[in-house]
Amino acid sequence: MAGKVTLVGAGPGDPGLLTRKGLEALETAQVVVYDRLVSPAILALMPEGAEHINVGKQAARHPVPQEEINRILLDKALEGKRVVRLKGGDPFLFGRGGEELELLAAHGVPFEEVPGITSAIAAPAYGGIPVTHRDCCSSLHIVTGHQRAGKELDIDFEALVRTKGTLVFLMGVSALPELCAGLLRAGMDAATPAAVVERGTTPAQRRISAPLGELPRAAEEAKVVSPAVIVVGGVCALAEQFDWFDKLPLKGKTVVVTRPKERAGTLSARLRALGAEVWEYPCIATRPIAPNPALDGVMERLGVYEWLVLTSPAGAETVWQWLEDHGRDARALGGLKLAAIGPGTARALTGHGLRADYVPEVYDAAHLGAGLPAAGRVLILRAEEGSPALTEALAGRNMEFDDVATYRTVYDNPRSQALRALVEGEGRTLITFTSASTVKGFVSSVGADADFSRMLGLCIGEQTAGEARKHGIPVQTAKAATMDALVDLIVEGV
Ligand code: SAH
Repeated sequence: MAGKVTLVGAGPGDPGLLTRKGLEALETAQVVVYDRLVSPAILALMPEGAEHINVGKQAARHPVPQEEINRILLDKALEGKRVVRLKGGDPFLFGRGGEELELLAAHGVPFEEVPGITSAIAAPAYGGIPVTHRDCCSSLHIVTGHQRAGKELDIDFEALVRTKGTLVFLMGVSALPELCAGLLRAGMDAATPAAVVERGTTPAQRRISAPLGELPRAAEEAKVVSPAVIVVGGVCALAEQFDWFDKLPLKGKTVVVTRPKERAGTLSARLRALGAEVWEYPCIATRPIAPNPALDGVMERLGVYEWLVLTSPAGAETVWQWLEDHGRDARALGGLKLAAIGPGTARALTGHGLRADYVPEVYDAAHLGAGLPAAGRVLILRAEEGSPALTEALAGRNMEFDDVATYRTVYDNPRSQALRALVEGEGRTLITFTSASTVKGFVSSVGADADFSRMLGLCIGEQTAGEARKHGIPVQTAKAATMDALVDLIVEGV
């Protein structure tokens, strides 16, 4: 049976601008065919098991010719695969989307098109330029500035100038001087506001504003490169007033998120929303311990415990997994009081319909151990290398407990030269650490002999900061051990 091809517009770069329908198609794809303009943040959403085919330009290589792309889509669909063809912006706007569908249509292969947010509107918008505005203009014209080698631009400049509308040129960076000259020759005022928005909607976005007559020189001085949109018209004057993206608190900052992959999402999304360039570099992964006779033992005699103590969402997850594997559910914990080290772990309980009876005021192991209002026996289910502060505090109070490891942290990252270059390079790279183990994983990925003096480690708590200091990493510590406080620290402290 033939598969299906879904042509998906990936939007201009900001992963938040991928449509829900596009994301759904991407997440269920078996083959993803993508090109140069699709941003790394969106490529990171591709399912790991899917086949990834890059048909875009790479450093010294030419892009795959269009006929071959058409052929790949057809062949994969005929193999019965669900194929997603990801394209920058909107697939049908100067994106050759139609061409890619022709061969499929001719072979009767089912296809779908998911429109995307085009850079022609979104890049100006993120640059503070609404493409239309009351009294400014009554039309918008999107024009390609692409010049075939050795050929003149095929643009009717007189007609464009007569419309008095907003003009947006795509693929126009190399022809910028000719585009501006053409408009001026056709009678447009040299003082007409204009702008170039480079890498719009991404953390690297730049807007260069200048009157039409001066735009080519301004762009050259700023060394503007593709991809960039050129906007001409009165609306460009609004940019100073409406510039919101460039003013975001973390704009221009690079932040590395070292949490394990499955937990990185929300922190990264929040930092991106604040304008940061986020690198997800999971320095650790957590693996349930299996088989785990110690866990089996305590889970079969939960009745002897008064409290169950959990110190991480990953730890909570291992409990649910055990219950599921043994055909049980949350009722098995019914007789126990539940303690969570912090709000994240407490949420991992509420997600299953259970509320934590105790969360310490300060979210760390020492406070948890000192404050737990227990009289009877305590069961701790946590990582293999859990902090001794918890058990020391309980022992100090002469309490009875069992400390059972349910998962371990693994550091199986390859050495990362790229991460090391970022850490040692110009500018202060911000690295978030959400546990002592992320610090250890990070140091082993970068190499313990690296120069950490330029970077800044943003730590969720004292234990994490202590581990970072051991390696000579300059640190700042969040006011409380929560993601909120960590984000506040990044915004306020740097
Ligand atoms: N289908 C795409 C356009 C493809 S043509 C869309 O709808 O956005 C390629 C041109 O798009 C580039 O030369 C550039 O002019 C523009 N472009 C794409 N992404 C961009 C971005 N993030 N910022 C600025 N311009 C971009």
